[in-house]
Amino acid sequence: MSAVRVLSHDLLSDEERLVLKAARSVAGSFGRKYWLEKWSLGEEPRELWKRMKDEGLAGTGVPEDLGGSGMGLMGAVLVQEGFALEGLPMIQFLVTHFVRDIILKAGTREQKERFVTPTCVDGKRLSFALTEPQAGSNTWRISTFARREERGYVLRGQKVFISGAGESDFMMVVARTKRYEEVRDKRDGISIFVVETDSPNLRLQRLNIDTKSPEWQYMVYFDDVEVPPENLIGRENEGYRALFHGLNVERLMIAAIAVGLGTYALARAAEHARQRVVFDVPIGSHQGVQFPLARALIKLEAARSLIYSAARLYDNDAGSVELANAAKFMASEAAVEALDAAVQTFGGYAWDFETDVLNLYPIVRLFKTAPVTNELILSYIATHVLRLPKSY
Ligand SMILES: Cc1cc2nc3c(=O)[nH]c(=O)nc-3n(C[C@H](O)[C@H](O)[C@H](O)COP(=O)(O)OP(=O)(O)OC[C@H]3O[C@@H](n4cnc5c(N)ncnc54)[C@H](O)[C@@H]3O)c2cc1C
Repeated sequence: MSAVRVLSHDLLSDEERLVLKAARSVAGSFGRKYWLEKWSLGEEPRELWKRMKDEGLAGTGVPEDLGGSGMGLMGAVLVQEGFALEGLPMIQFLVTHFVRDIILKAGTREQKERFVTPTCVDGKRLSFALTEPQAGSNTWRISTFARREERGYVLRGQKVFISGAGESDFMMVVARTKRYEEVRDKRDGISIFVVETDSPNLRLQRLNIDTKSPEWQYMVYFDDVEVPPENLIGRENEGYRALFHGLNVERLMIAAIAVGLGTYALARAAEHARQRVVFDVPIGSHQGVQFPLARALIKLEAARSLIYSAARLYDNDAGSVELANAAKFMASEAAVEALDAAVQTFGGYAWDFETDVLNLYPIVRLFKTAPVTNELILSYIATHVLRLPKSY
């Protein structure tokens, strides 16, 4: 629906434009009305997932020999952005894609066929369980433990805020196979498993979180969940490599939603500013209304360039944590600024549910906090790029 010309789209190849256009076309045919209706009914957007699968969009970013549509991370980023440009922040596509990317990088052929191919051809979805109530942002302090036994592993612990846990078919679980207290290097002893979400002794509790989207978060309890050894992704104790590689993908996918939604909000605001007449002229003719919108647009474009650069580097095996972090930071800040400018432009009408502007706030604001907080990103840049001393 966005009538705003996205300047950075001039950077895209013909093939990339086609993917973006296909995503926008599918998303636009459902639209915000469908998204909010599903949210108010508490129903999953199943029809949308089916269309994504049927049109090959669900498999974007997965090699064709595994049932995907090819194109790498840049393709997945554009699908994500295309949906957000039409007002659909599909967190479950984001999670499904970055989890399967970890499997693509670190898994065996058999694991890719079991867990990745069904996300392209059968509409299966994946969730990701890392955050724990006690550890918080200090990922290394997770205590969910996978005990090695004769028949495989036995998982015990608790995860919080897990998006789509109840709607996904498989969950990637990050656990310790050596306790934090036993290792000299905090990265040692991290292992990654894929667990079936209907496994015995795995319990889900839906959290009271409302992002005004038909997607939900869960507390997950593992009370001795048996996991076969063939569900270990990569090598035992060395999961951190694949994990941090995958978290870069997560940051870029989140950033793509942020710039898409920020632009969607700006387009809505610009349209309103052209039509709403106060003091006998459209409010959009006042520079006091124009400047915050124009400033936000420029920042969104800067964020988009960072995202595309980082995604292209990633697809050329030269991805960098620093650039992915910078893109996520910039995109989340720019999106909040854009939404705030849009709210101001709508005046009192922004508070009317039917105007559907403030409804975007919970999800847009989330990106400054999840999947990693912007403070932790600043801290990473300060210590790894500026080489300042660590504060923790
Ligand atoms: C809607 C939603 C969906 C989510 N989905 C998932 C999911 O699917 N899977 C998953 O694993 N997790 C998920 N999360 C969790 C999310 O990644 C965490 O909430 C986030 O990483 C922050 O952790 P925390 O909430 O424990 O905050 P805390 O770690 O308690 O931090 C609280 C505040 O303190 C600041 N802070 C902490 N340490 C420092 C420091 N050293 N320097 C400066 N500031 C600091 C933080 O920046 C933050 O502002 C989700 C969260 C939400 C709200």
